[in-house]
Amino acid sequence: MSSVVLSHISKHYGAVKALDDVSLSIADGELVALLGPSGCGKTTLLRSIAGLEKPDGGVVQIGGTDMTHVPARKRPIGMVFQSYVLFPNMTIRDNVGFPLKMRGDSKQAIRARADELLELMGLAQQGDRYPNQVSGGQQQRAALARALAANPSVLLLDEPLSALDALVRTRLRDEIRRIQQLVKITAVYVTHDQGEAMAIADRVAVMNAGKIEQLAAPAQIYDDPSTRFAAGFVGNRNILELRADGGMARLGKAFAVQAPAGSSTVAAFFRPEDVVVSMTGEDQQAMVENKMFQGLLTRLYLVVEADGTTTRIYADLPSRQAEQFTQGSTVNVRVAAADVRVFPAD
Ligand code: ATP
Repeated sequence: MSSVVLSHISKHYGAVKALDDVSLSIADGELVALLGPSGCGKTTLLRSIAGLEKPDGGVVQIGGTDMTHVPARKRPIGMVFQSYVLFPNMTIRDNVGFPLKMRGDSKQAIRARADELLELMGLAQQGDRYPNQVSGGQQQRAALARALAANPSVLLLDEPLSALDALVRTRLRDEIRRIQQLVKITAVYVTHDQGEAMAIADRVAVMNAGKIEQLAAPAQIYDDPSTRFAAGFVGNRNILELRADGGMARLGKAFAVQAPAGSSTVAAFFRPEDVVVSMTGEDQQAMVENKMFQGLLTRLYLVVEADGTTTRIYADLPSRQAEQFTQGSTVNVRVAAADVRVFPAD
């Protein structure tokens, strides 16, 4: 069993609350992504699981055992960092086998395990090379192999793809997920890239200012943000500040939604793919200010004049459907109330 249970973890650096009473349970074999902007505390949380950071308060359990005061080297974890941190003077195979050498495994056992992992990572041909003789993506695969060598209970990954270019990043992301599921290892994955978090994780923890704002499956995080911060951070969304009149917030005739009780101004969030655009109709009129072709989708930048206010929103449409809407033309727009999330503005 290799669940990870964090209970009421706090960490201060002087006046900065890096972690503010964070609790999180990760099931055996689950991959949870910690997602949030720079400085929200995700690395500090990961390092607290690793034992590289000592929380001021709270309990860290791995596999049901209290690890709070166990030093990092005695925790059953493997770690992959942003930079590859391979030993430059060792071959890729020796790098992978290094943790086993440190714990005194036999030469034969080390060789067999290193070769097995090199095969798994698609590095069978690169074992005898040195780190500077392979690509960045291959170095990071080797770092992943080394992290798995000693069969840890938990794999911790800290922005493992940030140093790679876009194409390699997507491939390696999918590869990490494949291997994590293959070896059925519990994993925590730190990233500030929402696409990466959504693609790789069973659940995503959206973090802000030392707290977990929302913890849910990627589709739920995307479809149903539970806080204003999560709504603004995840997914590209239209964000409008609207007055609440008689308990309702409106964008002209495009939508009308119930405002949270007691708020006079609301922040309304809706996704560009939820804006329904048509040539004619009785809903809200809007002017197509600009059009941006993006391949499968085309983005329309729309100007809405309603209730004496000019508002700009954007809509994403399948490119074939967007062809009919020309720049400068007037169109009809609406958004279903169910697709609009509202939070108090302050
Ligand atoms: P990033 O994506 O930039 O790495 P992060 O979400 O991982 O950010 P942390 O590195 O966990 O954030 O930092 C959380 C807060 O704690 C930040 O305000 C940071 O400046 C502060 N902090 C982190 N480590 C230290 C340290 N060793 N000394 C002082 N302050 C620190």
